[in-house]
Amino acid sequence: MLFLPTLLLFCLLPLLAICAEDYYKVSNSVAESHPIVAGSRSRERLILISQLLGIDKQASEREIKKAYRTLSKKYHPDKNPDDESAKQKFVEIAEAYDALSTPETRKIYDQYGHEGLKQRQQGGDRQQHHDPFDLFSRFFGGGGHFGHGERRGPNMEVRVHVPLRDFYNGAEHDFTIERQGICGKCEGTGSEDGVVDVCQTCGGRGMVVQKHMLAPGIFQQMQMQCDKCGGKGKTVRHACKVCGGTRVIRETESHVLHVEKGMPKGVRITYENEADESPDWVAGDLIVLLMELEPSLGATDENLERTDGTFFRRKGKDLFWREVLSLREAWMGGWTRNLTHLDGHVVRLSRKRGQVVQPNTVEVLQGEGMPIWHSEDGEAYGALHVEYVVVLPDQMDKGMEKEFWETWEKWRRKKGVDLLKDSGRPVPRGHDEL
Ligand SMILES: [Zn+2]
Ligand SMILES: [Zn+2]
Repeated sequence: MLFLPTLLLFCLLPLLAICAEDYYKVSNSVAESHPIVAGSRSRERLILISQLLGIDKQASEREIKKAYRTLSKKYHPDKNPDDESAKQKFVEIAEAYDALSTPETRKIYDQYGHEGLKQRQQGGDRQQHHDPFDLFSRFFGGGGHFGHGERRGPNMEVRVHVPLRDFYNGAEHDFTIERQGICGKCEGTGSEDGVVDVCQTCGGRGMVVQKHMLAPGIFQQMQMQCDKCGGKGKTVRHACKVCGGTRVIRETESHVLHVEKGMPKGVRITYENEADESPDWVAGDLIVLLMELEPSLGATDENLERTDGTFFRRKGKDLFWREVLSLREAWMGGWTRNLTHLDGHVVRLSRKRGQVVQPNTVEVLQGEGMPIWHSEDGEAYGALHVEYVVVLPDQMDKGMEKEFWETWEKWRRKKGVDLLKDSGRPVPRGHDEL
């Protein structure tokens, strides 16, 4: 009996990965096709249902809902016009969700697995069956469709800050937003017992006509929003205790953010239909604006935080770093520096003895910059620009000064260097450069 769950899990892993990728869409990115694991129809069906049924036997209600949200958007017929198989999958996903959405059916699944549920369904118990579009509208609002004149809620924008390291290496983060969601208790009806009546006052139109007498015998007719139902056209006798009849609740929703290697900062990542929900409209998109977190020590315990790379500065595909040299190093050479890059690899900087580094020289190390996002020639990187800053000693005792002075004087006399040239100022025309 261990074989089936193992097989399910085996089938599931690659598909989950694909789904996770499909779950979000990056603006500016090339639209990708959505490959489904190849195989027979029945195998696909098994996989699809198991994605909902078998995420894990211990999958929480939240996880099941999440799976439904992801898949139902992906296979919605409005998004896959003229694709019969997508429509079929959309229906199956709704059925699978139905099968797991009540504690009772979940218990059967926990005990008897997929087969148990199947037998139960074959036994003619279809009371849980929802219209797939109706189910969809309970998750995303509106009438269960994406377009066709449906009203659409506002988009929602949030900023998420991640450290430079994540832009370099790629990363996954969970983040949470607070938003308005359709009340799950009353399924967006606002009614405790599920009974919704047509408003007696306005007859379901949400508007009433009021007559005002302007002068004897002269009336003005005005359309007003119905007070009784607040313009909804529907009333409930017993308001839902969770949402108080408002049909919506405040809720926190968590999402996974996939930071791709080399993503530019300020990129917008769209999570379709994940903004505020309402039974009156189709939820708008949640848009994540990806920002760079300023480096700071002590934010985490990770050792990586203390690497040089943490303090690289980024400009597009290039990275910038300032390396400090002492006067002796800059002048006489014979030094080595090991910079720890953002992924932990070491970039070695060095000069042999006698190699001078002038202050503010910039050394460009090709290939040590940021990964180039969506690069056309495979894995490619920008450059790391290292600027050398030379620090002069701020102390000098009498003896040192005297010795240095004498050394200089001796050298000048020997080489015939004049002070003007030695000062570093531009030499007037006509002089011999040497
Ligand atoms: Zn009314
Ligand atoms: Zn409610």
